Amino acid sequence: MKKIKNYDEIILEQNTLIILDIDDTIIKFNSMGKTWWEDILHDYEQHHDKQTAYQLAYDDWKAMINKDTPELLDHELFMDLLDRIERTNSKLILLTARESTMKEITLKNLKDCGIHIDPNDVYHSSFKGEIVKDLYETYKANQFIFVDDLLKNIEDVITTMKTYKIDCYLMEHENL
Ligand SMILES: [Mg+2]
Repeated sequence: MKKIKNYDEIILEQNTLIILDIDDTIIKFNSMGKTWWEDILHDYEQHHDKQTAYQLAYDDWKAMINKDTPELLDHELFMDLLDRIERTNSKLILLTARESTMKEITLKNLKDCGIHIDPNDVYHSSFKGEIVKDLYETYKANQFIFVDDLLKNIEDVITTMKTYKIDCYLMEHENL
């Protein structure tokens, strides 16, 4: 695993399958800062049990995503990455832990950021390792790359992909 701060640190070979997370890896909501989730969860936990607090925080998060417009973390370098993906005959897949009922709003969020992607190339699952393994076995690529801002997702992929060769990047984006 390699820690990176922007997309220019991702090295692409010819015919690569690159799997990117969405939230805080390519897009962000300015209304929700770095500690937004922790703060809101902490507030709810003052008056509710843990499970209820989590549900309430999650509902708030969903409401924010539905009403807000996100932006790319770095327009120039992300567009450059898309360009490199095309030039190397590579394939981009997006993999989000957002539940699949959020498919439509997720596509809208991406469109609002200028990302026009085939809806079939956007996967929803919190079991990222399993999806990455399926993709690895489905696509005939020379190189496989997985990028996510959450260490637990990277660890899940590394554990599931033990016998496979995949480059994992932990995104700690400089503009977050
Ligand atoms: Mg993320």
